[in-house]
Amino acid sequence: MHESGRGRTLVRMRACAGCRAELDERFRFCPWCGAPQRLKITDFFRPHPEIRGDRQKALRVSRYLGGEEDVSHVRFSVWHEGLGSVRADAAVSLDETETERLLRFLADPAPIPEEDTAQLR
Ligand SMILES: [Zn+2]
Repeated sequence: MHESGRGRTLVRMRACAGCRAELDERFRFCPWCGAPQRLKITDFFRPHPEIRGDRQKALRVSRYLGGEEDVSHVRFSVWHEGLGSVRADAAVSLDETETERLLRFLADPAPIPEEDTAQLR
């Protein structure tokens, strides 16, 4: 344990698996050698508030950074809350090539071809 800030926040420290430097365990990557410090990073994404049928659902995205026993991949799962339970309805894993394709798709959607825009006018 290591006290930081104004003495109120306790920050756990650990040794980097790559260079043995001591660092805050919240770090995803070692700031000195760049080695990944966590093998799995997960986040939840809320549904669109105006799409009624999705209100009890959430998208969980887990990034598996790889290691000795696992290949790196990204897993998407749809979670559903109902009647006191929370469960995954479906899940799929993408490799790095497909994950990069998804990132490009979300960041820069393909422009609508000329003939399609002509029909909209
Ligand atoms: Zn390191």
